[in-house]
Amino acid sequence: MAHYNIAALPGDGIGPEVTDAACRVVRSAVDRVEGIDLEFENISVGAGEYLKNGDPLPDATVQRLKTFDAILLGAMGLPDVRWPNGVEMTPQIDIREKLDLYQGVRPIKLYHPLHSPLRIPEGKTIEFVLLRENCEGMFSNRLEERDDKAEFATDVMKVTRHGAERICRAAFEIAKGRRKHVTLVDKANVLQSMAFFRSVFDAVSLDYPDVETDRVYVDAMALFLVQDPYRFDVIVTENIFGDILSDQAAGLVGGMGMAPSADIGDDFAVFQPSHGTAPTIAGQGKANPIATILSGALMLRWLDPEKGEKGASMIENAVAKTLENPDNRTFDLGGSHSTSDITDLIVSNLQS
Ligand code: ATP
Repeated sequence: MAHYNIAALPGDGIGPEVTDAACRVVRSAVDRVEGIDLEFENISVGAGEYLKNGDPLPDATVQRLKTFDAILLGAMGLPDVRWPNGVEMTPQIDIREKLDLYQGVRPIKLYHPLHSPLRIPEGKTIEFVLLRENCEGMFSNRLEERDDKAEFATDVMKVTRHGAERICRAAFEIAKGRRKHVTLVDKANVLQSMAFFRSVFDAVSLDYPDVETDRVYVDAMALFLVQDPYRFDVIVTENIFGDILSDQAAGLVGGMGMAPSADIGDDFAVFQPSHGTAPTIAGQGKANPIATILSGALMLRWLDPEKGEKGASMIENAVAKTLENPDNRTFDLGGSHSTSDITDLIVSNLQS
């Protein structure tokens, strides 16, 4: 029996509601697969933890997280709970950096044409993976002290060969198991850091002659995602472009509640919805748990490519079957199903 220990970090806002739903679905799926077993332990991290104990992510907690097989995270941060310099607490970003989770894997899939604000042409669908570099780029000096008397502020777009190479390689590896196409998104026409990123991408691409490539500037990408999102397979880009484009991409398939993610490094991985804490709908049963449920499926696949894969496919098929019926929609998708209604339906559609 393969046994996995999972740290569940519900966090703040709608985090606890969507994490509960995902744990329920993942447990129910795993119960239907022979030879695999999971145990969840809840750990408090986030703005709520800061209010209780003065630190949103104590070092001891980071060390403990490293002892688990995987981490499932809800959402963290609250608009009113800020550091003295005014910025929000973002332990979910700190975890990525401390555990070196350089791959932000964001699968984008349209489950029903009604979920999209686009008029989807007959025979087309939206199904791609956006891969965001998570540990450098425009977030690289975000924690540096700033002289608060200075009349200017800067952020640095840092791209290292090591950082660019490993994220580009990851993109090609993902594409090998898909439609074998990678699109690089950058701003190589203006920014030196991005021209460097492109040169590394070009060099890595030579190792993957079977994978087709194209290169798109980030401003054009904002346009293409709306006009022709059907053509993309794997998209790779730096940190802040990936942050922005992944929200736009989520919008194409129904919004943040439909966008799962996996933050993966060489030793650890965190699975979480792409959305934040959505404080305006917290505690009302209105949160769409599907992004977190699908993140749970990504977790199972990463943990165990054989038995976990069975559980992951079971969850993805149950989500697809549930959403086939356009009446089955949460509030964000224009329906009236609560978090628990949609979770119940997904559990009832799990089939071994
Ligand atoms: P953050 O700054 O942490 O990203 P945010 O509130 O700015 O937080 P999100 O939490 O991602 O951004 O929310 C963006 C919008 O999407 C909000 O209107 C929110 O209510 C909605 N939203 C996000 N997640 C969900 C969800 N799971 N179900 C329903 N609506 C959601």
